[in-house]
Amino acid sequence: MLSNDFDGVKIGLEIHCQLTALNTKMFCNCSSDYRGKPPNTLLCTVCTGLPGALPVLNKRALEAAIKIGLALNCKISNNSNFFRKNYFYPDSPKNYQITQYDKAGGEAIANNGTVETNLGSVRITRIQMEEDPGKLQYEGSITTSSNTLIDYNRAGISLVEIVTEPDIVSPKHAREFLNTIQSIVETIGECDSKLDGSMRADANVSISDGRRVEIKNISSFKEVERALNFEITRQKTIQAASKMETRHWDDVRRVTVTLRVKEDEEGYRYFPDPDLPPMNISENYIDEFRQSLPELPDKRLKRFTKEIKLSEEIARILIRNKIVADYFEETLTHEYNPKLLSGWIATDIMGYLNRNNVEFSDLPIESKALASLAKSVSDSKINDSTAKAILLKSLSSGTTIGDLLKSELDNLVSFDDLPKIIDTVISDNPKALEDAKNDSQAIHFLIGQVMKVTKGRANHSKVKELIETKLK
Ligand SMILES: [Zn+2]
Repeated sequence: MLSNDFDGVKIGLEIHCQLTALNTKMFCNCSSDYRGKPPNTLLCTVCTGLPGALPVLNKRALEAAIKIGLALNCKISNNSNFFRKNYFYPDSPKNYQITQYDKAGGEAIANNGTVETNLGSVRITRIQMEEDPGKLQYEGSITTSSNTLIDYNRAGISLVEIVTEPDIVSPKHAREFLNTIQSIVETIGECDSKLDGSMRADANVSISDGRRVEIKNISSFKEVERALNFEITRQKTIQAASKMETRHWDDVRRVTVTLRVKEDEEGYRYFPDPDLPPMNISENYIDEFRQSLPELPDKRLKRFTKEIKLSEEIARILIRNKIVADYFEETLTHEYNPKLLSGWIATDIMGYLNRNNVEFSDLPIESKALASLAKSVSDSKINDSTAKAILLKSLSSGTTIGDLLKSELDNLVSFDDLPKIIDTVISDNPKALEDAKNDSQAIHFLIGQVMKVTKGRANHSKVKELIETKLK
């Protein structure tokens, strides 16, 4: 689609982030380490909602939610509380979900934030704390499966739900925003987004005066962009959606399908959870977290562009992933050559990893090794393009940079032998020397002669430097 095909498009997102740094569930002591465990083994009376069982809020969940709220520039509520959202669906063993609400006296933990992206800022309506439901599993696709399996190990896992205003203007903007949120929660260390299902998004989209359509259960950011592109084309084709509805993204068939025509909020019969008292959160308590926040991606971006003098384009690529930005800074501690190192990481290395579907965290090159390659360039032992060739060869062959660099240097004529070779070339070409004194271009003839004599094994920049000294 062309960019003006997105005129009048308004997209809002609801992002569920599991608080993966927590050891136990949100309101009980069951382990939150549910991935790969036998189904229905991490359960207790609280997370299955047996009569008389009382939930107690996990303090760490509150701390994590406050930190995320502050990082997204939200106002933290001093009187936040929990509500019950009642619904009858097999993913909830107790027929309600403990969550937060923004009406009827309800107050989410964080409100009114804003997040900058390079495609425009997005307002955060609120961040609410809630528990994850259980997991339904289908044989094949949700639309064709004849039966449903239920695993409640996930029921009661701590989540924050980040709700945005409909400020997002295109599917690409949505993806960019999700990347920004991911980078922020990774930096805070409360959500490991690499864990399967730890970050999930629902999107709502409307075009001009059409009704709002919600797309549920989108599993990855790439799928968000795809699902939105599909849904916008679908809505444009049918002249804007005529009914408010919830659609499911079928990522196998790559289409959205009607899940249900949207229930009214009244259908959920929200009411304050009588088992959980309101939280009184003092400004002093909030301030403690404000003081201890780590350097967030937008601040890091400014430092990379202002202090380290990277181009904004390169800096943005680096800060988008905390692991990448950390790696870059680690290389600088060994060899301070930010321009060279940032370029290699942001273009050569990340390009290679993308093409081969490898995560940056699995990069087989240690920061120290990459720094040593940069140092060889700074010391004029090899030139930039030789270094890049070594880097790419190391990535594709698995041979270490150290070994490749050594064989490259062993093959070069030593710097000590170069002056003698240059003297011979100059005395054999007296006219070229005279030409070079008047015409800076003529120096290339002399360099070419040296490369010919050494069969290309001389260091190009060193040869140039030595001849230039001779000319003076
Ligand atoms: Zn439990």
